[in-house]
Amino acid sequence: MKRCQQFIQYGWLLALASLFIACKEQPQTFAVHAPIFPSNTERVTYTLRRIEGDVEVVRLFESVQTINSAGTTSAPSAEVLLKTWNSPSASSFPLTFTRSTGYGSNRLVTYRFEVVGSKNNYQHRITFATRPYPVPNQAAPVYVVGDVNKIMNLVFIPDTDMASDLTTFRNAVKTDIDEVFHEEDWIRRFRSSYNFFINPATGHAHDYDTETRDHELPSNWDNLSFAQGKVILHSRSIRDFNEPDKNLFSAEHYVKGTLLHESGHCFYRLADEYGGGVHWQEAELPNNWSTLIACRNDAAGRGMTTADAHQMGTSGWYKLCPASCVMESSGAAMHPYEKPCRDRILYALLKRSSQ
Ligand SMILES: [Zn+2]
Repeated sequence: MKRCQQFIQYGWLLALASLFIACKEQPQTFAVHAPIFPSNTERVTYTLRRIEGDVEVVRLFESVQTINSAGTTSAPSAEVLLKTWNSPSASSFPLTFTRSTGYGSNRLVTYRFEVVGSKNNYQHRITFATRPYPVPNQAAPVYVVGDVNKIMNLVFIPDTDMASDLTTFRNAVKTDIDEVFHEEDWIRRFRSSYNFFINPATGHAHDYDTETRDHELPSNWDNLSFAQGKVILHSRSIRDFNEPDKNLFSAEHYVKGTLLHESGHCFYRLADEYGGGVHWQEAELPNNWSTLIACRNDAAGRGMTTADAHQMGTSGWYKLCPASCVMESSGAAMHPYEKPCRDRILYALLKRSSQ
């Protein structure tokens, strides 16, 4: 009975998920800029990457605002067309355009790729700030695509062990946006559901196995409550973890699979899928179950079979995902979120957007 109610409750959600899969034939493109948080003089390069689908025309526009130390912004300038690509061939991707000059100080830049496909047109509209960001003690927007109150916000915090090499830190932020959030096969479909920021103050990540299990917070911590995720990117090799009460996790700046795994705990409350991890059962669309029978009972409604239900090691906890799911296999290789985790991600994004 409970399973039936769950199916009715989430049937529409799973139908929506299959719609996203059906939309795969449309062009899939991803936009990014570099440097991700440019100085006032650095020239910015814009890139449009294509995963699949036919693209007929691409246009790139920009608009600039000023921002002062109080965070007050001017009206945006009229949009300027920077470049048009007509009938770009598959081999011409990624499309790139580099400005001849920097944007200057105290600027917010919004660029827009207009993508005309054979079946649909769509936009990538992204806003970023230039360095130094004039608003004291506030995280700077470096890749903002939507309403901070409706989508997920992730603040990248440099560890004290990266404070002397912030260029590496900023390059890692760009890589994480472009090669984690815009690459993993499920979450890249929701590219309009994540904003990214860089924090001016450092934090310090602790090792889960050998140090106290609370990360050291940046001095402006109280200003970061708007963000559903905060990640301390660090250089030293440690065992990373998420602090659920703070929505704070850590990751090596060069390990994409860890970022994906820890953000899974933080953004969607996905539990670990390996024996010896941290286990709990969410009330809605869990990826861990406290009993084998409950796990089996939910299998069909989650696109799996009862044979998929199995114990994680000797933990006494059960799951449906195969070992390939990133919630079991994190690390250097970036594994995907498997089906049961995908349901939970979609649920979390929809819940956030309806707040
Ligand atoms: Zn999973």
